[in-house]
Amino acid sequence: MRVSVYVHFPYCLRKCPYCDFNSYGTAREDVPHVAYADAVLRELAWRLPTVADRELVSIFFGGGTPSLWEPRELGRVIAAIRGGFARVASDLEVTVECNPTSLDRARAAALREAGVGRVSIGVQSLDPERLAWLGRLHDAGGALRALREASLELPRVSGDLMFGLPGQAPDAFLDDVARVLETGVRHVSAYALTIEPGTQFGELHKKGRLPIATDDAYADTFLAIEARMARAGLEHYEVSNYAVPGEEARHNLHYWRAGAYVGVGAGAVGCVDDPISRRAARWRSEPLPQRYLETSGSAAVESWGETLSPEDRVREALMLGLRTREGVSISALREATGLDLREGREAAIARRAARGELALEGDVLRVPARHWLALDAIVTDLF
Ligand code: SF4
Repeated sequence: MRVSVYVHFPYCLRKCPYCDFNSYGTAREDVPHVAYADAVLRELAWRLPTVADRELVSIFFGGGTPSLWEPRELGRVIAAIRGGFARVASDLEVTVECNPTSLDRARAAALREAGVGRVSIGVQSLDPERLAWLGRLHDAGGALRALREASLELPRVSGDLMFGLPGQAPDAFLDDVARVLETGVRHVSAYALTIEPGTQFGELHKKGRLPIATDDAYADTFLAIEARMARAGLEHYEVSNYAVPGEEARHNLHYWRAGAYVGVGAGAVGCVDDPISRRAARWRSEPLPQRYLETSGSAAVESWGETLSPEDRVREALMLGLRTREGVSISALREATGLDLREGREAAIARRAARGELALEGDVLRVPARHWLALDAIVTDLF
């Protein structure tokens, strides 16, 4: 059985106005590098024994801005995770999410020394006006420099971009894509801006004071991106992700295949199955960094939990797996849950398949990429 580990680092230099992640604007000198690593190590010591017999396949540091974390401390965490498993995959993938303001060549080299092989860099845009609108702290030159310098030290570098920004024509976004690809990256994530309640943008939107892109502009850009990436040899392997074949994010693939993952750190979510009952336990750790530091290592660190039934797990697997080009393996899901995903869904599958929106090919159910714009409706039909 395979398992991944997700480590959440909740500190950022400044909170972006659109962000609803568990992240907190913190002055660089106030980040508690050692204390936070100690707290994560305590949580690992508490959580890992229950999964120690599984094979560790990937580690992902997300946030927040984990590139702010002293690489020495991040390296202590990597070592503890590796040491917590009897089996570690020979191609273990270790990824760190980075912001251009906390990544240069020296930091990339230090991350490599710490055991990191892949970074995912939050470029978001290369247009000065849009970067300012998004409240980002870097400029286009800084983002491109971070991509180039990271590529000199690390074998795998991904650039993250954001589209669906007001007034952003598809061509303008494709220019950003082209400039990111020129740096030699072989993986790009292109996320649509979403307006989340509780964020600064969410509040402005509620008051009607936030210009946002229309659905048509979003759809036009979505389709144009795929064509542009294909010309550069990157496959659209998940709704928001493109990669040269073989360069896909293995951590995310494991997640979209509904694989088990242990989440540690403030506000991290984990979900691990029980192969006997075929249920799964999902939890969330204490989100507030200060309380996390105080409670980590004991049951008090868990702020929320739930049990997923086998049928819940089938629904999740559909929701996640149908986002990908590879789709959902019926036999793998049956092995994990004891259920055949087709049961009770025959009519919905037949109806959508007749329209070409679902493809049932041998053991695999998938949504062809040309219908990903309608994905939510298709998945809802299968629930
Ligand atoms: S840098 Fe990322 S995690 Fe931090 S506030 Fe901005 S969007 Fe959120």
